[in-house]
Amino acid sequence: MAFEYAPAPESRAIVDLKSSYGLFIGGDFVDGSGHAFKSVSPATEEVLAEIAEATANDVDTAVAAARRAYTRTWSKTSGAERSKYLFRIARIIQERSRELAVLESLDNGKPIRESRDVDIPLVAAYFFYYAGWADKLEYALPHRRGATTTPRPLGVAGQIIPWNFPLLMLAWKIAPALAAGNTVVLKPAETTSLTALLFAEICQQADLPAGVVNIITGAGETGRALVGHPDVDKVAFTGSTEVGKAIGRTVAGTRKSVTLELGGKAANIVFDDAPIDQAVEGIVNGIFFNQGHVCCAGSRLLVQESVYDDVLARLKRRMATLRVGDPLDKNTDVGAINSSEQLARIRELSAVGEAEGAERWSPPCELPDRGFWFAPTIFTGVSQAHRIAREEIFGPVLSILTFRTPAEAVEKANNTPFGLSAGVWTDKGSRILWMANQLRAGVVWANTFNRFDPTSPFGGYKESGYGREGGRHGLEAYLAE
Ligand code: NAD
Repeated sequence: MAFEYAPAPESRAIVDLKSSYGLFIGGDFVDGSGHAFKSVSPATEEVLAEIAEATANDVDTAVAAARRAYTRTWSKTSGAERSKYLFRIARIIQERSRELAVLESLDNGKPIRESRDVDIPLVAAYFFYYAGWADKLEYALPHRRGATTTPRPLGVAGQIIPWNFPLLMLAWKIAPALAAGNTVVLKPAETTSLTALLFAEICQQADLPAGVVNIITGAGETGRALVGHPDVDKVAFTGSTEVGKAIGRTVAGTRKSVTLELGGKAANIVFDDAPIDQAVEGIVNGIFFNQGHVCCAGSRLLVQESVYDDVLARLKRRMATLRVGDPLDKNTDVGAINSSEQLARIRELSAVGEAEGAERWSPPCELPDRGFWFAPTIFTGVSQAHRIAREEIFGPVLSILTFRTPAEAVEKANNTPFGLSAGVWTDKGSRILWMANQLRAGVVWANTFNRFDPTSPFGGYKESGYGREGGRHGLEAYLAE
C-alpha cells in the first residue's frame, strides 16, 4: 500500500547562491577568460547561477598556481601538517553539511535524503580517512616494506569528475592527492559545478595554502586542455568510457600517470535461496538510488528462474511505492534526471528496448511538468543481445534476465565489456565466495548493494577503467616510489 505524505520540503534558505561564479585559482576567485555558461536546477529548469568557462589560458594559469604551491609550500609541508589541514576540511564539511546537501540536491537533482544521508557524510568520511594517512605514507605501499625513504608525491594532479556524485567524486580525488603531498587542479562536470565552488570556499576557510587546490569550471574543451597540459604529472578521470579512452590516447607515450574510473553495466544476481524481500530492497537501491546515475548501478538483474515470478511481483509492488518528485522534499525517493541531454539518452535507449522486443513497465506515477523526469522503469523479456542489456543507460531503467544454474549466472554476468561491480543474493556463504571469485568485477556486494566505505578500494576491470580509488590502494595512484 502506498501512503500519502504531506509535502516536507527542506528550506533552501541556508544556501547563499551567487548570481555568477569565477574560477578558483591560487587561493582566490578570478574571472575566467571564456564565455560564462548557466547551471540550471534539473527539477525546475530554473537558472541557478552563471559559471565561468576556463579556457586553455586559464588552465595554464591554474596549473602554474598548482606547480608554485607544490614547489614552494606543499612539498615542504610535513605529513602531520597536511593531515591537520585535511582534518580541518573534514570538520568544516560536517559543520556545513546541511548547506552542502541542499546545494547538491538543487544543482544535481538528487533527493535530499540521499545527499544528506549518503553523499555528504561520505565526503566527510573520505577526508577524515585520508587525513589519517598523510603522516603514515611509509606504510602506504606494502611492497616497499623495509625501504628507508617515504614514497614521494607525483606533483601536480589534473582531476576531472562527472555529475552524478559531484562532491563525493571531488572527495575521492582531492583527499588522497593532498594526503600524498600533491597539489591539484580539479574540473567538475559542467552541469554540477556549484558544490565544488563551495568546496573552494571551504579551502579558504580552512586556510589551506593558496594554490594547493584549484577549481576550474567548463566542459569537455576545458577538460581536454587540462589532460593535455605538459606540466600536469598525473591525470585522474572519472566519467564515460568513451572519454576515458580518448584520455588514454592523449597521455599514452607521455610521462604522466593516469587512473580511469569509467562506466559499468553491473549484474545483480538473485538466487532462489535469497531472502526475497531483502533482495527486492537491494534491487531497488541498486538501480533507483540516485536515479540510476550510478556507475556501479545494478542495471542488469539476473533472477533464478524458479523465483522469477515471485521476485517480479514483489519488485513491481515495491516500485509502486516509490515517490518521484521534488529533490528537496524529504519524502522523495527518486529525484530529477540531471540534464536534458541525459534524459534524451535514457529515452532513446528505452525506446530501443521496446523496439527490440523487450516488455516495458513503470508504476503509475505523475511526473512534474517542468524539469527533467523519467519514471522508474523495468524491462522484462530481455536477451543478452539487446542493447539495453549491453549499454550503460545511466538512468532509472532495469533490464531483467533469468538463469538456471550458478554457472549460467556467472557466464551471463561476465558477458559485458564492463567490470565495475556486481551483487549476489543468496543464503549460502560458500556460494557467495565462489561467485565473488568467478565474477570479473572490481567490487562484489553480497546481500547488499551500492555500499561505499573510505577504507575499501573501488575500481574496475576491462572497459570500466584501471586504478583504484579509496582505501590504501587509493594512495598508490598519487605516489612515486
Ligand atoms: P563524461 O565522460 O561525458 O564527462 C565526465 C567529465 O569529463 C566531465 O567533467 C566532462 O566535462 C569531462 N570531459 C568531457 N569530454 C572530455 C574530454 N574530451 N577530455 C577531458 N574531459 C572531458 O561522463 P558523464 O556523462 O559526465 O558521466 C557519466 C559517466 O561517468 C558514466 O559512464 C559513469 O559510469 C561514469 N562514472 C564512473 C564512475 C566510476 O567510479 N567508475 C563514477 C561516476 C561516474
